[in-house]
Amino acid sequence: MKEIKPPKKPLIYYYVVILIVVMLLNTFLFPAILRHSIKEVDYGTFLSMVDQGKVKQVQIEDDYITFSPKSGDVVYKTGTMNDPELVNRLHKANVNFSKVIPKESSPLINFFWTWVAPILIFMAIGQWLTKRMQTRMMGGGNGFSFGKSNAKVYVESETGITFNDVAGQDEAKEALQEIVDYLHNSKKYVDIGANIPKGALLVGPPGTGKTLLAKAVAGESKVPFFSMSGSEFVEMFVGMGAARVRDLFKQAKAKAPCIVFIDEIDAIGKSRNSSMAGGNDEREQTLNQLLTEMDGFEPDKGIVILAATNRPETLDKALLRPGRFDRRVPVELPDLAGRESILRVHARKVKLADDIDFNVIARATSGASGADLANIINEAALRAVRLGRNKVKQNDLEESVETVIAGYQRKNAVISMKDKLTIAYHEIGHALVAAKQSHSAPIHKITIIPRTSGALGYTMQVDEKETILMTKEQALDKITTYMGGRAAEEIIFKTITSGASNDIEQATKIARSMVTRFGMSDEFDMMALETVNNPYLGGDTTLLVSAETASKVDVEVLRIIKTCHQNAKMILQNNIDKLHELTKYLLEKETITGVEFMDILSGKELELI
Ligand code: ADP
Ligand code: MG
Ligand code: ZN
Repeated sequence: MKEIKPPKKPLIYYYVVILIVVMLLNTFLFPAILRHSIKEVDYGTFLSMVDQGKVKQVQIEDDYITFSPKSGDVVYKTGTMNDPELVNRLHKANVNFSKVIPKESSPLINFFWTWVAPILIFMAIGQWLTKRMQTRMMGGGNGFSFGKSNAKVYVESETGITFNDVAGQDEAKEALQEIVDYLHNSKKYVDIGANIPKGALLVGPPGTGKTLLAKAVAGESKVPFFSMSGSEFVEMFVGMGAARVRDLFKQAKAKAPCIVFIDEIDAIGKSRNSSMAGGNDEREQTLNQLLTEMDGFEPDKGIVILAATNRPETLDKALLRPGRFDRRVPVELPDLAGRESILRVHARKVKLADDIDFNVIARATSGASGADLANIINEAALRAVRLGRNKVKQNDLEESVETVIAGYQRKNAVISMKDKLTIAYHEIGHALVAAKQSHSAPIHKITIIPRTSGALGYTMQVDEKETILMTKEQALDKITTYMGGRAAEEIIFKTITSGASNDIEQATKIARSMVTRFGMSDEFDMMALETVNNPYLGGDTTLLVSAETASKVDVEVLRIIKTCHQNAKMILQNNIDKLHELTKYLLEKETITGVEFMDILSGKELELI
């Protein structure tokens, strides 16, 4: 994509050119002309030429005399002498002669040239210099001046991104398609009396393609596209943000129909009363200016304002009321089909082997965003190159899923045999508990190769089909599976390690949600105990209850976890032979597939190589 910048005005360039031209004329042309026509002679020659009657005309100036002869077009020049005879002599020789009267310039003009003109010139130079300095200070130094928005203008042919590049997100695309239609056929809407929406707010977790969608809208509607990030408005100079908003809209009005896209609008659009004591006046001013500008143009002007955020709940209510960002376009994490098609879109760019099955990858990446999936494809391609292949294989994709989720393999990590044994029992503990329960997802892969993310090994489960709802049984089985690692360590080694820290965190999260948000405990029935503050970023929560109830919640959460822990231990104790057998196999191979795992579990003898 190419940016089109407003053309610079290189004033200095013109100055230099003019200067050079003048200098050239001075050194070559003028002297050449003069050399040809003026010939200097001494005073004696002049006198004798006059006496011989060869001179036609004489001009006497203060300190020199020029004269032309009767024949030829040469002009002669000589210095003056204190010669009182000269006039008589010229008169006698019948020569035309005159004295040039020195020009008497008016005192006003004199004053202008000696005083006013130099001052004017200095002022002009000074102003030009300060302007340049400001440009430098604004960073970039690329010819935008104080308070100008540096919105990048993208034009259709340059973005080249269309809805075809955005996979999944069909609802979002449909909503935006309508906006493209406004830009092209606004008359249709005005005629029927409909209010064309001024703006749409793209809302969703990071990496789901909000920015991509906005660019696609620009690509589809083939109109200029002004894009600017919210944080760019908030400048180090006070009052700058508001000036930038004003300038952005001025540019947009000049280019209408067009699209103005404000990415990460939460940087300026934060609720005005949510700021700390004292507030952020600068941001508030910027927001006010934005609201003013949005009200300031007619809806049929052909300007559509798109904005994106992953923190919609923090936005000022004024931004969301009708007439401003009255459309909300949710851009959610992709579902199974969405993930598969995103993988396909990004795989268009890479050479694939025949064994690729995107469905398997899509199933293994539940919860991944579009950006994650794009990254997975790229990592796979990089891995293929690293291994000296020219096509991406399924294996590369599977490995890169783990790379993206868990970090790179730490091949040279030194792990003692004893730790390795513990890790193997721990992982098989998870897998065995999962396999022996009826509501948990099948095992896809178990590995004890450490990852750069800090994971020492892990068990990957992949659901056959995607489920949106989680039953109480599934939730409990999940917690029990998390307990499986620690439970195996306890049974085998009679001691415990720090290796279960992540399991503990995840299990507690689920147990807590069961009690406080899902209404899955008998104690609290369907009482809401917690609210999610930010559904898209981390999902941190706030308790809605009194301190007394909060401690009861803790008790209930603990009860669930303890029960699951006991269940996990019981399952492992009942299958202790399989626990040993599978661990031995895993230790040998370091990574085993779900199929191998199930084979051993169902009693097949597998060869150890
Ligand atoms: P957001 O703005 O929502 O944080 P982006 O639009 O910047 O996310 O997406 C980042 C990258 O992820 C995109 O450049 C694209 O490569 C990829 N991506 C995300 N969602 C999709 C999608 N639905 N289809 C194709 N690619 C996607
Ligand atoms: Mg973005
Ligand atoms: Zn674990």
